[in-house]
Amino acid sequence: MKRVTQLNNSIFEIQLPTMKSYRKELFFQTETRRAYINITAQVEDCLKESGIREGLLLCNAMHITASVFINDDESGLHADFEKWLEKLAPEKPHNQYQHNGYEDNGDAHLKRQVMGREVVVAVTNGRLDFGPWEQIFYGEFDGMRYKRVLVKIIGE
Ligand code: ZN
Repeated sequence: MKRVTQLNNSIFEIQLPTMKSYRKELFFQTETRRAYINITAQVEDCLKESGIREGLLLCNAMHITASVFINDDESGLHADFEKWLEKLAPEKPHNQYQHNGYEDNGDAHLKRQVMGREVVVAVTNGRLDFGPWEQIFYGEFDGMRYKRVLVKIIGE
């Protein structure tokens, strides 16, 4: 975008930064009911494709039984998540949840609530501005079906 400005009888043409916007959906179908998938590389591909160098990136699960969260890519930690979430909201017996009238995923809604819906990451100099060891994960709590994750990036 350009703006023409007049000052002391001189005319200046100023190049204003133009805000860009990018949107993409990622797809997942896990082979197990629960899974933790590192999606950092896929999100970085989106950022590259967007051409945005400075701004904010939002990444969210589009389903209410899945999460997107940031943590360490360490298998012990993921096993600990699994144990901890099963203690908080055990999958079985299914009839312990009022939600499970026609469904069996009451536990998955609760697990998603604890692990969160989305992450927002600063984009600096064309890269995800992470702290040490930060990686983005898709957390699936009611899998074996087609699920979507949204990536939205705004900036310049
Ligand atoms: Zn449900």
